[in-house]
Order: sequence, then C-alpha cells, then structure tokens
Amino acid sequence: MDGKELRRAFGQFATGITVVGVNNGDRLHGMTANSFTSVSLDPPLLLVNVIKGSNTHGLIEAAGRFAISVLTEKQQIWSDQFAGRFPEKKGVFDAPHHLGQLGQPILEGSLAWFECTLHAAYDGGDHTIFVGKVESFGTDPNAGEPLLFCNSRYQRLVPAP
Ligand SMILES: Cc1cc2nc3c(=O)[nH]c(=O)nc-3n(C[C@H](O)[C@H](O)[C@H](O)COP(=O)(O)OP(=O)(O)OC[C@H]3O[C@@H](n4cnc5c(N)ncnc54)[C@H](O)[C@@H]3O)c2cc1C
Repeated sequence: MDGKELRRAFGQFATGITVVGVNNGDRLHGMTANSFTSVSLDPPLLLVNVIKGSNTHGLIEAAGRFAISVLTEKQQIWSDQFAGRFPEKKGVFDAPHHLGQLGQPILEGSLAWFECTLHAAYDGGDHTIFVGKVESFGTDPNAGEPLLFCNSRYQRLVPAP
C-alpha cells in the first residue's frame, strides 16, 4: 500500500483544527491536531489521536489530563506554531491562554474548549487514541469562523446556497 496515497486519501476528509494543550506541572505544551472527535455525551467523552514518540504523547501519559481548544480562522498562526512549523519556537508556549480548572492551557479566542482527564488510551498503530473525559468546557459564539483543514491546506467555511 502506498503510504503517500493513503495519506492523501485520508486528507480528503475535511476537519476543523484543534490545539491539544498539556500542563505537566513543569511546563506548558501544545500540539496541533485535526483528529479530534466527539465520542459520547453520557459519559462525556472525546478523543484525539497522537503520534507515538512525540512530546505530546509522553506529556499526556504523564499528566493524565489535557485540554482541547477549537481554533478559529484568526488562530491559524497557532496551528502553524503548534505543528512545529517555526523551529525557533519549538517548545515555546506564547499563545494567549488561560489555565482551566484542571490547570490545562486553553487558547484565548477559541470557538470551544474542553478540559479532560485521561479516560482511556488505545493502541492505534503509529498513534495512540487518547479518550478524554470532559470535566469542563465552554464555547464563545462571538469567536468567529472555524479554521478548517482539507487536502493538506487550510480552508474557510463557505455557507451552502
Ligand atoms: C492541520 C494539522 C493537523 C494535525 N493533526 C495531528 C493529529 O491529529 N495527531 C498528531 O499526532 N499530529 C498531528 N499533526 C502533527 C503535529 O501537530 C506535529 O507533529 C507537532 O509537531 C507535534 O508536536 P510535538 O511537540 O508533540 O511533537 P514532537 O515531539 O516534536 O514530534 C513530532 C514528530 O517528530 C517525531 N520525533 C520526535 N522526536 C524524534 C526523534 N528524536 N527522532 C525521530 N523522530 C522524532 C515524533 O514521533 C513526531 O512524529 C497535525 C498537524 C497539522 C498541521
């Protein structure tokens, strides 16, 4: 199977973009992720797939908690930064944020945010499927339009006619 082609095929599925924020007590860390999915209302669960061997993977396992911030199109810069596109900013968490009830970093200006404890972790090949139990959440209806990702590009929401 051609991995590049498979990646391209997966990439046809349009998604929003989130930043997974983790505070392990020593430092704050962020990772751009579009694998976020809501899972269950009762109990309140969500998931994110995180590549094994990454900083984020180890930090979520160690902290046992994390936050998800759903980005608007005005936050594209943070998507780039937390995807590692600015090597000089590696490990820097300078996005405007506040800490939630669990101490996890939530980006200011996000459309929605969820603060979670780690509920389960499932093997997902080269990724781990982290299921979070939502302990608190919020939305900002005035934050703006969502930032979208499809076909390896950022996209904008255009209402259907
Ligand atoms: C729109 C978008 C959506 C994304 N969605 C996801 C997603 O859902 N899940 C996801 O996991 N990633 C996703 N990514 C990629 C992710 O944001 C980046 O890989 C990010 O840099 C990870 O941050 P980190 O600090 O945890 O990773 P790092 O620790 O910097 O690791 C990044 C990559 O380098 C590898 N790596 C780290 N150290 C070494 C080493 N010493 N030797 C060899 N390889 C090493 C890791 O395994 C990983 O593949 C997405 C990126 C974009 C742009």
